[in-house]
Amino acid sequence: MFAGVFRMHLKCPECDLPYFPEPGYYLGAIYFSYALSLLVGAPVAVGLLMAGVAYWPCIAATGGVFALLWLPIYQYSRVLWLHFDNALTG
Ligand SMILES: [Zn+2]
Repeated sequence: MFAGVFRMHLKCPECDLPYFPEPGYYLGAIYFSYALSLLVGAPVAVGLLMAGVAYWPCIAATGGVFALLWLPIYQYSRVLWLHFDNALTG
């Protein structure tokens, strides 16, 4: 799907599925981005808090995890949105 860090192919090289069927198509990917961020961040934050780490270092560590993982979260949220939309609309 991705031709670079942010750049996407216009369509699938295998099956010609258009990756940009309409303007603003990937706005819906924010829901998957939120879900993925929650899946990644919540265990880190809750785990550190339960281990007795203070609040602000816990927030900083969780932010550090997001600083490392923003790119796969961004890209996979678009992939998941495309699959979700195609599963619903065909
Ligand atoms: Zn394809």
